[in-house]
Amino acid sequence: MLDSLFRPKSVAVIGASTKEFHIGNRVIRNLVDFGFKGPIYPINPKADEIRGIKAYKSIMDVPEDGIDVVHMVIPGKFVPQAVEDCGKKGVKNIIINSGGFAEVGPEGEAIQNDFLERAKKYGIRIFGPNCQGIINSDPDIRAYCNFTFTKPEPGQISITALSGGVAEVIHQAFSQMGVGTRIYASNGNACDITIPEIVRYLGDDEGTRVVVLYVEGLRDAATFMEVAKEVAAKKPVLAMKAGRTEVGAKAASSHTGGLARVDIATELIFRKAGILTFRDEGQLCQAAAAFASQPIPKGNRVGIITNTGGPAVIGTDVFGEAGLEIPPLSENAVKALKEKLFPEAAVSNPTDILATGTGEHYRAAMEVMMDEEQIDSIFINFVTPFFVDTEAIATEIVAVNQQKRKPIVCNLMTDPGQWTETVRILKEGGVPCFAFPSDAARALTAMVQYDEIRSRDIGEPAVFDDVDQAKAQGIFEKAKGREVLSATDVYDILSAYRIPVAGWRMAAHAEEAVTAAGEIGFPVVVKADAESIVHKSDMGGVAVNLADGDAVRAVVEDMEKKLNADDLKFFIQKYMPGGKEIIVGAKAEPGLGHLIMFGLGGIYVEVLKDVVFNLTPVTRFEAEEMLASIKTAAILDGVRGEKGVHQAGLVEIIQRLSQLISDLPGIQEMDLNPVIAYEDQVFVVDARIAV
Ligand code: ADP
Ligand code: MG
Repeated sequence: MLDSLFRPKSVAVIGASTKEFHIGNRVIRNLVDFGFKGPIYPINPKADEIRGIKAYKSIMDVPEDGIDVVHMVIPGKFVPQAVEDCGKKGVKNIIINSGGFAEVGPEGEAIQNDFLERAKKYGIRIFGPNCQGIINSDPDIRAYCNFTFTKPEPGQISITALSGGVAEVIHQAFSQMGVGTRIYASNGNACDITIPEIVRYLGDDEGTRVVVLYVEGLRDAATFMEVAKEVAAKKPVLAMKAGRTEVGAKAASSHTGGLARVDIATELIFRKAGILTFRDEGQLCQAAAAFASQPIPKGNRVGIITNTGGPAVIGTDVFGEAGLEIPPLSENAVKALKEKLFPEAAVSNPTDILATGTGEHYRAAMEVMMDEEQIDSIFINFVTPFFVDTEAIATEIVAVNQQKRKPIVCNLMTDPGQWTETVRILKEGGVPCFAFPSDAARALTAMVQYDEIRSRDIGEPAVFDDVDQAKAQGIFEKAKGREVLSATDVYDILSAYRIPVAGWRMAAHAEEAVTAAGEIGFPVVVKADAESIVHKSDMGGVAVNLADGDAVRAVVEDMEKKLNADDLKFFIQKYMPGGKEIIVGAKAEPGLGHLIMFGLGGIYVEVLKDVVFNLTPVTRFEAEEMLASIKTAAILDGVRGEKGVHQAGLVEIIQRLSQLISDLPGIQEMDLNPVIAYEDQVFVVDARIAV
């Protein structure tokens, strides 16, 4: 669909300028300098030629109909009429460079809507406005419809971003690293052609091996998710989302609301879709360079070859921290290397071939590791001493690299000004080289993580058929108009979904409370219940471990005095001592369903912030991942002789909550805090539902 945009046969520039420093001049120069394969039509009512190319007074005068791309660089107010003219002329796509539209306010938005309507009438696709444009370095196309100044070498990485600034940062980084770019698309206001559409196109584009994506938010998350899944199944998609400020926990009344970062949903979508997420643009670019030339590793075991000690140790640390393995070599491998390397060489993993090691030594070490079954990828550290033939070493590294058996990254320690030829051999041989061992190791780690994401099968969400959906829905309907549901409603809904709760009764006053406590069985807990009371313990509304009726009566009478709420009632609950306090929560994400949160709970939850999130529906596999991925996961297993908790019970609560919240999407926020977890059972003792 977007072929005519990204592979234009002809380009016209409306707003072409004779002035050197005008965008309307620069775009033409870029097209010419980059070697655009088709005709260029400058449009300018006053000029006969621009940069030596015949100019036309109006798009209507151009001898060609059905031009693929018009690049517009004119003030916003003239855009609607120009779009109308393009329509009459059968133009297929317009890149609108100019700003002054939706990004500046309602007036600009009206102009944007105006030209968009005209474009739709003629079936023209709009790229932008308020954008840089596109670049396609495909040797058959060479389209540089963009006013920037970095000319990419042809490559296999394609970049798409709403922000032109960030797209350019990435594009320039590739250029500096000597890594080519294929398609570059930065679409500004994205009023028509969207990021998901571009991502789908890049997924279909055979010349694109890696897609790099930068977003600040997702407008249509559901469509994005669908497209991202489809494309990520075909090729690596590396993405970054900026704008990760935290909302203060105080601003939200529920814990789940307070602990969810503003943007968390985007990263969760990336994850569910199989996209590799980055939080650092440098690391993203470096990883992309490795993805562009290397096969994906089939496991996390790294073989290290070096000709100098220290940097290999740094690499080892990075791998170790990321959970990668540096396995020992097999006996056969050790034997083979002892025959080929210097007697002083360290024959193990890492293998140190020594600074005096030759091309043959590198080759031997690489071949051995390529043959080792328990090694999935190779990290090379290569310093270029003056006393060895470094070009021969580079040539041997390239020869093994070109077998494409296992991925290779290289930390290259050199002076590129002096060792020009060595650097060139490695680069042209497709060996991703980095200037820091940590960078090389992180790029390789990203590939391993991608393999893990790809081979992870989250399964289908469970459907519990023992739940009473109608009952829960009924309670929910009846509670309309309230902001938070009453304790009775909350616990009845939980029970309808078979989420285990500690035994409870409601009581209106002290005598009822004493009777209720007797029915439940001592010891009990008394909690104040009123719509206005949010955090009960903060206001003295929770009394635990009450041993008898007298204690219950005293507590209720005291709360009646202390707390003034017309609707004050008392929630009497079985006392559950000695378990671990867990929090499970949910929060609505418009257009996406709900976030589900899991973590260690209790009163320190906001301080420790040891919680993880996922998006509904959460499968069993994902729920298990959530338990395993909190920082204090070891506590769930039991520490120092202490007993672990019933993790299967927690996994089931997460799944049942996921189903509950999907059935009752009107729930805005929900907290189960705490869920008390024992070795063999779990019980909710506090729950809150906001609608
Ligand atoms: P809130 O969160 O509104 O302050 P909770 O009902 O969560 O009120 O009670 C506060 C704390 O009291 C809980 O975090 C837990 O430590 C303890 N607690 C509450 N109910 C029970 C119970 N039934 N058994 C044991 N401890 C409880
Ligand atoms: Mg609580």
